[in-house]
Amino acid sequence: MDDLPRAMRAACAQALALLLPVACAGCGLHGVALCDPCRVALRPAPRCRDLGGLIAWSGLVFDGQAARALRALKERGRTDVARALAPALRESLRAAVAGARRPVVVVPVPTSPAAMRRRGYRVPDLVARRAGIRPARLLAVTRVTGDQRALGRGERASNVAGSMRARAGASGLAVVLVDDVLTTGATLAEARRALEAAGARVVAAAVVADTPLRHIGTGRTGSDERPSCA
Ligand SMILES: [Zn+2]
Repeated sequence: MDDLPRAMRAACAQALALLLPVACAGCGLHGVALCDPCRVALRPAPRCRDLGGLIAWSGLVFDGQAARALRALKERGRTDVARALAPALRESLRAAVAGARRPVVVVPVPTSPAAMRRRGYRVPDLVARRAGIRPARLLAVTRVTGDQRALGRGERASNVAGSMRARAGASGLAVVLVDDVLTTGATLAEARRALEAAGARVVAAAVVADTPLRHIGTGRTGSDERPSCA
């Protein structure tokens, strides 16, 4: 019953999107949901980042059309874009599970109740489902956190620290974490902490897109070079 208003809100948002004039989610071109050049720009090119012992794979760089498409999905109710972003998550997940010695469970980073009320859907879960993956919602948000976007690296870490809890049943599982956008890695680190506190082992992370480090406010410039993750 709790899910009913959410489902109705999501259905209304989708119905409204059908009535409004459509524009390309990547570049704003009118009359098409996603134009051919933007579709090409969303072709995945997996890369990885070492987040202090947690290897995070991404299918796209969070820039240009990919950033606009993700914002359309996250902020403008464009749930149709999830299908176009699904190959990026599928490829990053494929890289993340390569070499795993036993079956892994795909666990999405949890969506806060406030974000769920605002959107009516969970972005990582939706993209995962469009990629043919059935995510296991083993993480829950246990306290309200501030908006990460306005914060620097250290502030992001303290903002989310201790904000998640793993549900019963996580113990003993090998997990790959899934999220939409990787920025500093603070959210993935908290998700990993919560799962490992519950007895799971986080083997890697897979995201749709990774933010170039120069956008994060680290004070470093030209720091897009990645450590080798292989
Ligand atoms: Zn376009």
